[in-house]
Amino acid sequence: MNLHKLIFTENACYKAGRKITVKGIMVHSTGANNPWLKRYVGPNDGLLGQNQYNNHWNTYYPGGREVCVHGFIGKLADGTIATYQTLPWDHRGWHAGGSANNTHIGFEICEDGLTDSTYFEKVYREAVELCADLCKEYGLTEKDIICHSEGYRKGIASNHGDVMHWFPKHGKSMDTFRAAVKELLNTEPKEETISTPIAPLAEREKVIWDYLFGKLGNAYGVAGIMGNLNAESGLRPNNLQNSYEKKLGHTDESYNAAVDDGTYSSFVKDSAGYGLAQWTYWSRKQALLEFAKSQGQSIGDLSMQLDFLWKEMSENYSGLLKTLQTATSVEEASTAVLTKYERPADMGEAVQKKRAAFGESYLKKYAKVEPPAKLTTGYYRVRKTWADKKSQVGAYRILANAKATADKHPGTFVFSDDGVAIYPAEDTAEEAYRIHTVVKGDTLWEIAKAYLGDGSRYPEIKTLNGLKSNVIYTGWKLKIPN
Ligand SMILES: [Zn+2]
Repeated sequence: MNLHKLIFTENACYKAGRKITVKGIMVHSTGANNPWLKRYVGPNDGLLGQNQYNNHWNTYYPGGREVCVHGFIGKLADGTIATYQTLPWDHRGWHAGGSANNTHIGFEICEDGLTDSTYFEKVYREAVELCADLCKEYGLTEKDIICHSEGYRKGIASNHGDVMHWFPKHGKSMDTFRAAVKELLNTEPKEETISTPIAPLAEREKVIWDYLFGKLGNAYGVAGIMGNLNAESGLRPNNLQNSYEKKLGHTDESYNAAVDDGTYSSFVKDSAGYGLAQWTYWSRKQALLEFAKSQGQSIGDLSMQLDFLWKEMSENYSGLLKTLQTATSVEEASTAVLTKYERPADMGEAVQKKRAAFGESYLKKYAKVEPPAKLTTGYYRVRKTWADKKSQVGAYRILANAKATADKHPGTFVFSDDGVAIYPAEDTAEEAYRIHTVVKGDTLWEIAKAYLGDGSRYPEIKTLNGLKSNVIYTGWKLKIPN
């Protein structure tokens, strides 16, 4: 169906402003040889074409009559068939000349000379599709659809013959019409592509860290990449550049789904940044799209995007890759990624510092920097706290000896030479959150109620886990604040 909307706001019927509870649909045809929508629908929206007499129905009393319908089906200026909605569907229309106005949506099919079967087939099909959609919207069935002449026989409409002076000329009737609507209503809707739900932030961080560390083997390099990806996308693989969401009329989720099911075809050249690295330039987006297709993956799939990022870096950025493998600080790696790979408009010092700081936080969180088994300078010190020098029970070059001493003295820790407690490991119970594994039927509200005693505290869980929507999926491990 080719549905457009041009509400007859000038018509007295619209201005009367009455609503109905929709209980049926009445099919009309215009009774005049004029298949052009512009005869009835105006003013010209650029598709309808110009009505030279300006006698369309978007006027107080069209032709001096109290008349108004909910829609018209006919030809646009270029000859294509379209439906125009001309009243809100639940507005009380003036189409039946009887009590059906209180219960029925009424639309007109523009008649031609009644002999052109090609035109008839097209508008008939358009009307069937319109009725099927309206049935779905208002909980009706095909049995609730009648034409004007049927309404007259039921005593709820004036004495008109439409549409039965026309349909039988092409082998159709209101019974065939209703059967066609029924068939559409019984057809299962095309299966919707469900975009891959993205995992919570903590899970994404871990996946990205492990992936990149497996490739690079250098924690500074990994942290440098991740700081940049966080600045670009918040580590959201389905992130559509925010400034384009409104422009393209898409959310992250709907964009992802529309690219996946092929209904959005401008992915490559729409100039919108997308994905973990906010790929923007058309040739890179094209390569990303082709890669996703070749892998049979959603465009928003995290693992696919990581593979693609690695493919780009290893094939096209060999200098950068070497830097990332050998970097000895996060800042070195981060700035290399910024200036050689991401190249945003602003690569100034403030941006460099911000991205490096993101990277440092990942390094701190995920890099397992193993203390050396034997120090050549300084000592492993065993104390209660670093500040409490008097509590020291020993100082060792060899880590194993320091650990053994700490084991013999409960309450003491092994400190590195610069004062970081490295043994025993912190008690996990002291972490700032608990973990809840989502099961079927869970909602954020219920989880907040169970753990925090108050369902309305669910935004705390969203924040801690970096969730953008309230949708959660079975199997997710959510951090719960203490
Ligand atoms: Zn009629």
